[in-house]
Amino acid sequence: MAHTYHRQCGCYSCGKAEEASERDEEMAGPYIEALKGCPTVLSEAMGELTEEEMASMAASLATGDNDKFALTMRTRIGMFVYEAVECRMDDLKCDMFTAATRLADAYGAEPLRQAVAA
Ligand SMILES: [Zn+2]
Repeated sequence: MAHTYHRQCGCYSCGKAEEASERDEEMAGPYIEALKGCPTVLSEAMGELTEEEMASMAASLATGDNDKFALTMRTRIGMFVYEAVECRMDDLKCDMFTAATRLADAYGAEPLRQAVAA
């Protein structure tokens, strides 16, 4: 009898569910990356910086640690996009791909095409 999916289970039907969810994540990937590179998303994510993140970024600025500054911002925007996608998945009871494409649509974020030679 089928049970609900458990990541650690390893039975045939859980294996299938795992595969499907990996494929889903793979397909959603380009849209998630597009969202991370969207100016509106960036602006909203910046508005959600926590005090610790702000403090860390300010300290990075003060010490000239550009890598750490960028990493903090990247982490914030990554979490912002991930949470937005999860929220949309819950709302629409849909898979990650659908949620990510709907969000990308809403934000006007288009998946990056193959890099065009500058
Ligand atoms: Zn199972």
